[in-house]
Amino acid sequence: VILIICVVGTITLLFGFPIETFVLDDPKVLTMCKESGSNRDEIMDCDEHVVCDQHQVITDQWMPCSSALFGKRLGFVPEMNKDDVDIRVKAASSAQKTWKSSSFTQRNDVMRALLSFVLQNQRVLCEISSLDTGKTMVDASLGEIITTLEKIRWLIAEGESALRPEKRSTGPLTGLRSASVEFAPLGVIAAISPWNYPFHNLMNPLCAALYSGNALVLKPSEHSSWSTMIYAQALRQVLQSVGAPPDLLVVVTGGAEAGSCVVRHSLVDKVFFTGSTSVGKAVARLAADRLVPVVLELGGKDPFIVFDDADWTLARLLSARGVFQNSGQNCIGIERILVQESIYHRFIQDAKETIDALRVGGEIGSRILDVGAMTMGKKEVERIESLIQDAVQQGARVVCGGKLDSRSCEIYGGCYFQPTLLVDVDLRMRISQEEVFGPIMCVMKFKTEQDAVSIANTCPFGLGSSVLTADSKRADRVIRSLQCGMSNVNDYAVNYLCQSLPFGGTKMSGSDRFAGIEGLRGCCLMKSITRDRIPHVRFNIPNALRYPTSPNAFEISQYINFIIYQPGIMHKFNAFPHLLRMLIQPNYIPHTTLSTSRKHD
Ligand code: NAD
Repeated sequence: VILIICVVGTITLLFGFPIETFVLDDPKVLTMCKESGSNRDEIMDCDEHVVCDQHQVITDQWMPCSSALFGKRLGFVPEMNKDDVDIRVKAASSAQKTWKSSSFTQRNDVMRALLSFVLQNQRVLCEISSLDTGKTMVDASLGEIITTLEKIRWLIAEGESALRPEKRSTGPLTGLRSASVEFAPLGVIAAISPWNYPFHNLMNPLCAALYSGNALVLKPSEHSSWSTMIYAQALRQVLQSVGAPPDLLVVVTGGAEAGSCVVRHSLVDKVFFTGSTSVGKAVARLAADRLVPVVLELGGKDPFIVFDDADWTLARLLSARGVFQNSGQNCIGIERILVQESIYHRFIQDAKETIDALRVGGEIGSRILDVGAMTMGKKEVERIESLIQDAVQQGARVVCGGKLDSRSCEIYGGCYFQPTLLVDVDLRMRISQEEVFGPIMCVMKFKTEQDAVSIANTCPFGLGSSVLTADSKRADRVIRSLQCGMSNVNDYAVNYLCQSLPFGGTKMSGSDRFAGIEGLRGCCLMKSITRDRIPHVRFNIPNALRYPTSPNAFEISQYINFIIYQPGIMHKFNAFPHLLRMLIQPNYIPHTTLSTSRKHD
């Protein structure tokens, strides 16, 4: 027996707790794509109707979902109506009734199962995201997988301490009490998400909701619902495999109407909205009707400021990744590169070299592509082209790219945009103020530090930012002056890999935070609690202040305030005999005025 315990103990220490493996099968359409290899003509439109649970589907409307990678239909998901939403929110609410009292050990078990699921299925999870949204495998791995793994790791390591009751200080009047804040689950959390990272946009609110004892109702974008349904199917099974109710995760598919039914539902306790600024405002208005709290994670226009003493290789590498990751479709993508005058031309030369080498296209599982498809297709491309045109008319130059990549569109079937270098951009141009969300490197010139800050802040958005310089004092001055929620010195977006940090912006980029201690606590009802510090020992309310109050009750209260809060011992000392006398003689009111000036102390 001792030998067995030793062996199991050693294995556990070396490899962690054994967790049931859960292998995600390729969805039918993904298998078809892999089998047909690179011959796109052989891939047929798929008619499969995808649902992720056994709940009744009331609607008879089904939305077609198509692959951004090669333009073929992937299947259909229900366009849910009010009744469908009601069924799902109620299911989540009832699952949460048991989950809310789960222990941290149970929650950590769920996190470990999710971690294991993600690790074992990295390839297929990325392939599904790639097929649906058109991203490359590396973009999927960076945006969908690493971010998710880090979130789960942080929750297992620090989630419990973030949610444990927290002791707070007491004041002179409350010294006999103990004070604490406790974090209770809210109930049902709704997340309304965009299409850019369907797996992470599901896992991010799911992990936070489950860890804090809540259930999640997810309304994914209509442009990434196919992949979300498949992920949710598998995740519900993972939950079940560790004894958690699968209805802790339910998915509502549909467009704006389905989204607003979720926000309006009386059992939804909080809304996490991630998406565009205009829709964010509409969701905030709806949420205000019910006074349901809402976190808004909206658009961005992040500056990347390069000073002339910056590490050149770093500036070159990070600027390219920040602009072209996921074809520029990132909320914290680099939208404006501000380069100091003396290195401006060299920067442009090197950037052109990098961009010329980028390989555009869409292949399932391809290892040789750098820039994928435009998920939203031609309509978005027209908007981006018009932003470039407007800039060019006002003096900007297109050094390379600048339009739809018709050749790639023809070869691969999806919608592809040429990686673009647009230089000499200035503040008069729309492109310096509006979110692009595409593979466009916009370069602006600045002279001084003040210039850089002023250009960066002349923008309606304030999400993330980067400052590249060898001078740490200058870096500190700049980041403290930037109007935004997140800054990285000599790095890009790396704050999101520190999951202990809150994520969010200011101005038109939204309000409140997800992630980090703040985001996790944001999934909770924060309760302020006081208790007896020592049982049965407490301050008594003076007789004079009890009902019916004595004639000098106001003066007693006034003197108590004075004695406690007036700095300087002499004033307190002088006032004290009057207070004592008032407590004894209900009709006694002192004629002296209370002096509060320190000068006379
Ligand atoms: P979007 O605003 O068009 O849609 C977001 C979600 O809202 C979708 O699920 C959509 O169906 C739903 N929706 C639309 N109208 C609604 C309504 N009236 N009521 C309720 N729900 C409604 O955004 P998108 O095009 O999917 O995503 C791109 C945007 O998301 C970009 O602006 C990007 O910057 C932003 N984004 C922000 C973050 C962040 O964390 N700050 C992260 C990713 C994306």
